[in-house]
Amino acid sequence: MAAKEMRQVDEGYTLYAREESVIRRAEDMLDKLEEVSGGVRDLATAYREGYRETARLVRISDRMQLDLHEANRKLTSQAEDLKRLNAALQAEIERREQLEQELRRIASIDELTGTHTRRHLLELGEHEQRRRSRHGHALAVLMMDLDHFKRINDGFGHAAGDQLLRDFGFLLRSSLRKGDIAGRFGGEEFLAILPETDLETAKAVAERLCARVRANETLWNSRTLSVTVSVGVAALCADETLDKVIGRADHALYAAKAAGRDRVMIGQASSGSE
Ligand code: GH3
Ligand code: MG
Ligand code: MG
Repeated sequence: MAAKEMRQVDEGYTLYAREESVIRRAEDMLDKLEEVSGGVRDLATAYREGYRETARLVRISDRMQLDLHEANRKLTSQAEDLKRLNAALQAEIERREQLEQELRRIASIDELTGTHTRRHLLELGEHEQRRRSRHGHALAVLMMDLDHFKRINDGFGHAAGDQLLRDFGFLLRSSLRKGDIAGRFGGEEFLAILPETDLETAKAVAERLCARVRANETLWNSRTLSVTVSVGVAALCADETLDKVIGRADHALYAAKAAGRDRVMIGQASSGSE
C-alpha cells in the first residue's frame, strides 16, 4: 500500500476512534443523566411522601390540640359542677344540722309555754339530783297546778286557756334564776327544779310566783282574764330520789288545793309520800 493510502487509512482509524470515544462519552453521560434523573425522581418521591407525612402529623397534632381543648373545657365545666355540688351538699348538711337542732328543741321545749317538756325536764332533773348527791348541795322542787282551769276553758274557750298558759309560762320562767329548770309536767301542771336552793328560799320563790300570777291580767277579746296557782314545795333529803321529792311536792300541792288554792304548801320530809 502506498504511503499516502496508509496515511488515509490511519486518519480513518483515528477519526473512527475519536467518534467512538465521543459516542462512548455521550453514552456515559446519558447513563449518568439517567442515573441523576432517577435520583432526582426518587428525591421528589421521598419529598412528596415526607410532605404527606408531615401534613398527616400536623393534622393529627391539630386534632389532638382540639381534643385537649375540649377535654380541658369538659374538666373546667366538671370542676364547676363539682363546686356547685359541694356547695349544695354543704347547704344540705347545714340544713340538716339546723333541722336536727330544731327537732332537739321541739323535743325539749314545750311550744306553748316555752318551758321544758316533761321528758327533758326529768332528764335535767336526774342530772341535777346526781350532782347534788355527789357534792351534797341542796336541791328543791316546786310542783304547780293552775286553779280551776277547766272553768277558763269552759267560760272563754280553749284558745283563752292557751293564752293564760302562755302567760303563766312566761311568769314562771322569769321568776326563776339562771340554772333553775322549769317544765310543763302535764296539761296545766308545771314542775320547777331549783339546784342549790334550800326549802326556805324555794318557798319564797313560790310565794313570789303565786303573787305575780294572781296580779297578772291576760287580755283576751277585750276582756281581762286571770288565774291563780297552787304550789307544793319540797327539798331533797339525803339519799332521796328525784321521784320521791317530786311525790312529796305533789302531796303538798294537793294539800294547797284542799286548803283553798292560790297558796304555797311545804312537803315536809316527815310527812312522807311513800
Ligand atoms: P283544780 O283547781 O282542781 O286544778 O281544777 P282544774 O279545773 O284546773 O283541774 P282539772 O284537772 O279538772 O282541769 C284541768 C284542765 O286543764 C282540763 C284541761 O282541759 C285543761 N287543759 C290541759 N291542758 C290544756 C291546754 O294545753 N290548753 C288548754 N286551754 N287547756 C288545757
Ligand atoms: Mg288545775
Ligand atoms: Mg291539773
